[in-house]
Amino acid sequence: MDKKQSPVLVTGGSGYIASWIIIKLLEKGYSVHTTVRDPENSDKTAFLRKLSDTYSGKLSLFKADLMVPESYREAMTGCVSVIHTASPFVHKISRSPVQELINPAVKGTANVLETACQIKTIKRIVLTSSVAAILTDNCEVVNNNIESINEDYWNETASITYQPYSYSKTLAEKRAWEIAVSQDNWDLVVMNPAFVLGPSLLKRTDGVSANFIQRVLSGQLKFGTPDLHFGIVDVRDVADAHIRGLEKPYSAGRHILSSESASFVKLARILKNSYGKRVKIRTFKLPKILFYLIGPALGFSWKYIKNNYGVPLALNSEKARNELGIVFRPLDITVNDHAEQLIQDGLVTKLIIQNN
Ligand code: NAP
Repeated sequence: MDKKQSPVLVTGGSGYIASWIIIKLLEKGYSVHTTVRDPENSDKTAFLRKLSDTYSGKLSLFKADLMVPESYREAMTGCVSVIHTASPFVHKISRSPVQELINPAVKGTANVLETACQIKTIKRIVLTSSVAAILTDNCEVVNNNIESINEDYWNETASITYQPYSYSKTLAEKRAWEIAVSQDNWDLVVMNPAFVLGPSLLKRTDGVSANFIQRVLSGQLKFGTPDLHFGIVDVRDVADAHIRGLEKPYSAGRHILSSESASFVKLARILKNSYGKRVKIRTFKLPKILFYLIGPALGFSWKYIKNNYGVPLALNSEKARNELGIVFRPLDITVNDHAEQLIQDGLVTKLIIQNN
């Protein structure tokens, strides 16, 4: 795509992943429109306002909410493409999964994509889905007697009551494909990131991704580290993949984004190698029986523990490597850069206190 054909709309500009996409687009010379729910919230928009000063005239901020029909029309007007990242990313539900997760994800995706059907300048949409739309439980790889999971798989086991975040991502991506095939104005490219880690451009402490590293560095995992395995990918690689998805002529379909699969125990070992002299980091496995006791309070059901505790995960990310040309950063770089950002931003107080 010719850069002169910009602007690109990035939904959810206050997000961890979106902020990296926006800065990389601006660095590449694109004009960017982005949306936030509350432009008056200075905590959430400070980074965007600073960028808007640095890249004068290239970044415009709009107010939009996934649950408000027609909300994205103004921001989308004049754009040639959309990167739709906005969606609730929460691990522990406080109210109802339907209100908190499923409606904003599914109705919100329909809201954005249906508006795009009416704006004839839009030629491509890149959607941030998730590996959660591909599978719920690591045991599915073994149960299906396969070596690894690829983009052909769809999550068929999540529900409103079991892993509702995964369910919201599955339904939202399915809705996106339904809308995509009903029109011929734009094409759809989907990114399915695994668990995203790596430095944040935002000084936020509420993100799911930062939480584990903060806990390890603050010495909070006193009884051991949960033996849970995830695919892991660097946020900077996720941003690059979205931009390549926007630019590449032949990048149709879904793309698993995962550098490697690893357990929390491996992440804790990486952190111990780097920070072990400054903070007491425990790298022994938390016994499964203990995780059955404390897991539910952390948002992990017994069923999830049964299907995932100690079970490795094999994800196949060859398509992103071959078709998008992504060279994923190694895990230790991702984890150490993320830890360093949290320390530099003063978000790991215990470690800082020990240093003093
Ligand atoms: P994040 O920092 O929490 O960002 C989520 C974004 O969605 C925020 O900008 C938030 O806006 C916006 N949002 C939520 N509800 C909204 C609503 N009702 N209306 C408008 N905007 C709304 O999380 P993230 O990690 O960057 O996630 C971005 C996307 O990546 C999500 O689609 C998520 O499912 C996907 N993903 C994330 C991971 C990961 O490990 N982080 C992995 C795979 C996929 P506010 O600031 O207004 O709340």
